[in-house]
Amino acid sequence: MLTGAGISTESGIPDFRSRTGLWAKYDPLEYATIDAFLADPVKVWEFYGNRFEVLARAEPNDGHLALAELEERGWIQAVITQNIDRLHERAGSRALVEVHGSIRTSSCLDCGAVVPFDEVAGALPVPRCPACGRILKPDVVMFGELLPEAAIARAMQLAAGAGLLLVVGSSLEVYPVAGLPVETLAHGGSLAVVNRGGTGYDARAALTIDAGAGETLRALAEALPAHP
Ligand SMILES: [Zn+2]
Repeated sequence: MLTGAGISTESGIPDFRSRTGLWAKYDPLEYATIDAFLADPVKVWEFYGNRFEVLARAEPNDGHLALAELEERGWIQAVITQNIDRLHERAGSRALVEVHGSIRTSSCLDCGAVVPFDEVAGALPVPRCPACGRILKPDVVMFGELLPEAAIARAMQLAAGAGLLLVVGSSLEVYPVAGLPVETLAHGGSLAVVNRGGTGYDARAALTIDAGAGETLRALAEALPAHP
């Protein structure tokens, strides 16, 4: 199971690359790179402060809830996600691999202090380290940063072993996540894609559904027997 921004748009969270997405409004070079953060963390927190407020109010939708239910029922082994919004966790997903990090915590780049979301949200607009006073960095992967190695390794391992990789709400444009379907296909697994708009993998997928994540996953959960 692999999810991208498209599963969270139904929770009112803007995606990145669509016409109404975040990158249409904010230049990622100014707001989403590690160099931009190091050069002007106050400016980057204007962007994240706004996101934290949206994410604090957002609730998991039918898509997140259906996936958590399918995991509980034994249909899904794990959810690999590009999303940093915590909505899978809040919906009840347990085996979660967050390849782009999460807003669950922010860290101090000087002393290593780790501060939970609620505390950071309460310290906006410019959250500082409670120990040393340096401006915190959200624990999400910014452009120019390395992806979390353990999470990527786990994602590759899951994709290689999957009988079916179900991709929901990702256009599969961003590597290394875009390479996961190759792993599944190369090891004899199948691919299914639920996404509004096409992906580069549609021709190699056993099934493609051009529809919303919530309605599709809810229907899937209802159509499947209780347990495999
Ligand atoms: Zn510190």
